[in-house]
Amino acid sequence: EPAMDDAFLALMDWADASREIGIRANADTPADARLARKFGAEGIGLCRTEHMFFDAERLTAMREMIFANTAEDRRAALDLILPMQRADFQELFEIMVGLPVCIRLFDPPLHEFLPTDRVGLRDLAEALDLPLSDVTRRVEALAEYNPMLGMRGVRLGITVPEIYEMQARAIFEAAVSVTGEAVVPEIMIPLVSARREVELVKTRVEAVAAAVQMETGRTVNYRLGVMVETPRAALRAGEIAPYSDFLSFGTNDLTQMTYGLSRDDAGRFMSAYVKAGVYPEDPFHTLDIDGVGELLEIGAARGREARPGLTLSLCGEHGGNPESIAFCSEAGFDYVSCSSFRVPVARLAAGQIALKKRAFLEKPPQTQ
Ligand code: PEP
Ligand code: MG
Repeated sequence: EPAMDDAFLALMDWADASREIGIRANADTPADARLARKFGAEGIGLCRTEHMFFDAERLTAMREMIFANTAEDRRAALDLILPMQRADFQELFEIMVGLPVCIRLFDPPLHEFLPTDRVGLRDLAEALDLPLSDVTRRVEALAEYNPMLGMRGVRLGITVPEIYEMQARAIFEAAVSVTGEAVVPEIMIPLVSARREVELVKTRVEAVAAAVQMETGRTVNYRLGVMVETPRAALRAGEIAPYSDFLSFGTNDLTQMTYGLSRDDAGRFMSAYVKAGVYPEDPFHTLDIDGVGELLEIGAARGREARPGLTLSLCGEHGGNPESIAFCSEAGFDYVSCSSFRVPVARLAAGQIALKKRAFLEKPPQTQ
């Protein structure tokens, strides 16, 4: 339990009094959310829902859904997952009550949910009550050459609509069940690259909201937005924004796709590249202002032109870095989202950046 003494709290108050940009946390578990709140996060900026399915029991439920042979089997698997997700979201909403919670719809690179060895295959066959040969064949059929560029994110959501519909229902049912202060969930669509993806998901989510409203007699309030993590989504932000209440830039994937550089394999040559001066720094650790940053600016400008007042944020790993915060402040972003532990440093950095900007405006440097 991190101690928070008076000096720390006073410093945080100063920073908050100065800063202009919001700070949220990336949190998937109740523990993360509690920490986020304690460290002064102004909401959850990214809840990665697929991370809620990594423990053994949950993993089996997810795999049963992935391996469903028929629509009926899939529905049965989803019916098992729905109450789990409803409870997950309800807990997060209760912890964060009064603050926004941005829930990202499933973005599972399939390889993270498939067994990788014989033991895993055998366990899966047992769990699904299927012959080993059958399971092996199906795992092989699902394997992708480039899972990070494969059936991830909204591609899964479009191909198997029931999955996102289940999640939307879990979110709405959880939100209306929290009494007292208002809960306004935010639903975020991952890995978008085309306007039509957003239009399709939006239509389906709206239908689920209407159904839950009918069934419960409670008003369902929510915001729907898009995660901008492909270069195309940044370039086409102008046509995506009319369907989207917010854009959140996911700089992990956006960096991967802008450089054409695997985020999982870059370690092999990164230090050689930095040493040789090819990259000034590891772009996965420090925002690449020149390349990825330009896509952020293009996406922000085109999005806001199409939809004034559009909420803009950054939620990649380096969201809490001072350089990212300075960049996002300059570009007029509403908030950055970073891991809970980095929230205090991010608040401090945001305060310093705002003070520096004000000092600069009051006393511009002499030009000749
Ligand atoms: C991102 O791509 O920047 C992101 C935040 O999502 P994830 O790391 O889960 O792909
Ligand atoms: Mg991503």
